[in-house]
Amino acid sequence: MLKTLSYAAATASSPLAPFTLERREPGPHDVLIDILYCGVCHSDIHQARDEWGGARFPMVPGHEIIGRVKQVGPKVTKLKVGDMAGVGCMVDSCRDCDPCRRQLEQFCEKGVAFTYNSTELDRKTPTYGGYSSQVVVTEHFALKVPEGLEPAGAAPLLCAGITTYSPLKQWNCKKGDRVGVVGLGGLGHMAVKFAVAMGAEVTMLSTSSSKEADARRLGAQAFENTKDEGTFRKLANRFDLLIDTISAPHDYNKYLRMLRPLGTMVLVGVPPEPAPVGAFSLINGNKRLVGSNIGGIAETQEMLDYCAKHKIVSDIELIPIQKINEAYERMMRNDVRYRFVIDIATLKQG
Ligand code: NAP
Ligand code: ZN
Ligand code: ZN
Repeated sequence: MLKTLSYAAATASSPLAPFTLERREPGPHDVLIDILYCGVCHSDIHQARDEWGGARFPMVPGHEIIGRVKQVGPKVTKLKVGDMAGVGCMVDSCRDCDPCRRQLEQFCEKGVAFTYNSTELDRKTPTYGGYSSQVVVTEHFALKVPEGLEPAGAAPLLCAGITTYSPLKQWNCKKGDRVGVVGLGGLGHMAVKFAVAMGAEVTMLSTSSSKEADARRLGAQAFENTKDEGTFRKLANRFDLLIDTISAPHDYNKYLRMLRPLGTMVLVGVPPEPAPVGAFSLINGNKRLVGSNIGGIAETQEMLDYCAKHKIVSDIELIPIQKINEAYERMMRNDVRYRFVIDIATLKQG
């Protein structure tokens, strides 16, 4: 077994603290990655605080992992020692069921092995995430990080990137479309970058007027404050597509009013509580309210290659791991521009 330094939450109410875990020795199809950077997703907070239920402790969060391949099993063909590699939200799936065959491993019928707060496919061995010095993963779930993508800024692509790229592709975001991005955080800022790169006319819908200049710098053509009720009247029937990244409860009906007939609102944010949707909010205008969950491995690789081509990475604030609890508090106060990324080298400092 490989002794691995990490930071873990011992319970839903305890701060993260140093923790030593054991990774398996790499098998024939496994890749051992020395982790360099790990992004901090709002899902890490939801899960470490057991806001979605069913949390497993101790929990080592982190599913935006970038590092160098240190060792590969004899059957590995996808990566070689020294390559820059990534791991996102998943580390295994059956690869044989209908969704797996359709490259939608996140919906594996047998149950996907998530990167943390989950188990390996034996349903016993807990999985631990990227707030740690190394990870062992079967090659299918390791991504190739193109040379030229700055590694710290690329880490958040593994979750925030794919989660916003995938619905924009699925709902055919294209030149001239009117796209509204709801919430300017980790996911939201990636959604703006991708929608702009795809040629859309992007409006930022935010509760924080202090973020207007940033939204415009990211490429948004307009910025509207959603704390002002007038915004919802002014923008009625405006958008082809809304990407909703809000992590807290809010009224979906108000946002649906801003769609044009036949428009689509995609939920990617996961507020802990359900929210009512009136039938008329959808019936008036044949509107669609849909969801989207990360993306499959092939699409994640496509997204990384797209980012290399279009020079897209995340806007990050690099932090030492010792500041992780403070980073969570700052995210809860909406004080992140726009993704915290942990410099994993600082783990050695304890
Ligand atoms: P984040 O960086 O904390 O950003 C969330 C943004 O939502 C904030 O920046 C803020 O934007 C807005 N917001 C927060 N509280 C709000 C409130 N009470 N009312 C209105 N707006 C509020 O979070 P993130 O990492 O981007 O994650 C966002 C959500 O997506 C989380 O729920 C996360 O679990 C989920 N997620 C889902 C998937 C998936 O596969 N579907 C993948 C990753 C994450 P403004 O200041 O601009 O208003
Ligand atoms: Zn995430
Ligand atoms: Zn499967």
